[in-house]
Amino acid sequence: MKDVITQNLIGGAWQDSASGATFKNINPARNSDEIGSFPESGVEDVDDAVRAARSAFKTWSRMPAPARGDILRRIGDLLTEHKSALAFQMTREMGKPFFETKGDVQEAIDTAYYAATETRRLFGHTVPSELPNKFNMSIRRPIGVVGVITAWNFPVAVPTWKMFPALAAGNTVVFKPSEDAPNSGALLTKIMVDAGLPDGVLNLVQGGAGAGSALVEHPDVNAVSFTGSTATGSKIGEACGRMHKRFSLEMGGKNPAIVMADADLDLVLEGLVWGAFGTTGQRCTATSRLIVHEDVHDELVSRLKQRADALRIGYGNEDKVEMGPVINRKGAEKILHYLEIGKEEGATVYAGGKRATGADVDDGWFIEPTILTDVTPEMRVAREEIFGPVLSVLKISSYEEAIDVANNIEYGLSSAIYTKDVSMAFRAMHDIEAGITYINGPTIGAEAHMPFGGVKGTGNGHREGGWEVFEFYTETKTVYVDYSGRLQKAQIDNVED
Ligand code: NAD
Repeated sequence: MKDVITQNLIGGAWQDSASGATFKNINPARNSDEIGSFPESGVEDVDDAVRAARSAFKTWSRMPAPARGDILRRIGDLLTEHKSALAFQMTREMGKPFFETKGDVQEAIDTAYYAATETRRLFGHTVPSELPNKFNMSIRRPIGVVGVITAWNFPVAVPTWKMFPALAAGNTVVFKPSEDAPNSGALLTKIMVDAGLPDGVLNLVQGGAGAGSALVEHPDVNAVSFTGSTATGSKIGEACGRMHKRFSLEMGGKNPAIVMADADLDLVLEGLVWGAFGTTGQRCTATSRLIVHEDVHDELVSRLKQRADALRIGYGNEDKVEMGPVINRKGAEKILHYLEIGKEEGATVYAGGKRATGADVDDGWFIEPTILTDVTPEMRVAREEIFGPVLSVLKISSYEEAIDVANNIEYGLSSAIYTKDVSMAFRAMHDIEAGITYINGPTIGAEAHMPFGGVKGTGNGHREGGWEVFEFYTETKTVYVDYSGRLQKAQIDNVED
């Protein structure tokens, strides 16, 4: 496997952007390590890519679905073969530790095998007709050309959640990865075409908002699948609505972990360290609010501070590093700005709270794992997505209050409750307004064959993963077969007035 690929892929040909413009990509943990210059694609590149995808659609959509599944299985095999090399490059460009990027690739492998299996189960329905000698069924058809636009924090897993089911269902794809993880997107693309995807079935255009909006606005793109911030998702949703396109939006989160007084605090501690500081808190599902019962508040935050202070921060491709950098200067500045807001609002910086310093971290964008206490539900640090290693702690005195606090925000992606009370756990499954609830586990840990997505400001009603994702990537066609040999009029011939 190559280390770095700095070109677009259009109709099977690797090429630079039409304008020749590029953007630089650097290692967030070692700013002196420049990974490469990638094509800053524009309308012309996107247009070429969509044209290639449209022309490949005819053949690809007619291929028997299980034959498409064979290619997806080979993609899974190749991802397995290149897992470590790919993970190394992912860590280099987006920062999370190597053990986490290996998990990211594993999720893509699981998704490949899962999607391959589903190519043999793209079910429709057969149902009785209301008329004699007539047969009713529904079948699934691909939508056409799908535009895939993704964030950088799961640079391989998230694009595969979209592309593998899209391809399995017979669609062709134009993929625009994040400008903060272009190399991971290119390496993934190379693996996919090496596994046998015909030319034009998958096309790669690098770039930022310009390339993304050109893809969304292209009249020959039938559906858009997006993962990123709620602000960008809203713009994409407006454009797609105006153009009558199908669109799936997976956006921000502010995920609560509720800890009741009877919780197993050892278990809670492990879950919070992983949930709040894994991926440096830059997961859509990161635990960003701890809603804790007053009886265990002081003990829990004190033990959590010890763990947070002891986390080993550094370049994720080095041994034993537990937490990497944040993605870039803008990300770091946003986090530090929120800490100032929190202090002004009356929150206490209980642990961390500033840029990390030291020989291992001075050349990168590192922020200390941070715990804010004395946070109240109306504060901005309790309501807005900070997207960094910052946990806001809110104290509650009852289950009802915990649910009110958990639900009193714009987002609804993931959530967790720690309790030994089975009745309370079952109530919480229904009461928490979120697409995902974990009982006695952290807010993170999606599995490929389970639906993934959020409610309220996090999503627009679709799900990735699991069977539900195939609903997004297929159109239902209803077919009536009349073998009576005569004209039969539904609702007329079979009803006597
Ligand atoms: P972002 O919205 O800035 O960018 C996401 C993608 O959209 C990038 O590829 C970007 O180039 C593209 N883009 C930007 N402006 C665009 C426009 N006007 N038209 C079309 N495309 C455009 O988000 P980010 O900073 O890369 O990622 C962080 C965000 O992603 C967080 O809010 C996080 O919660 C969210 N996220 C959500 C999920 C989920 O499944 N819900 C998963 C991962 C990340």
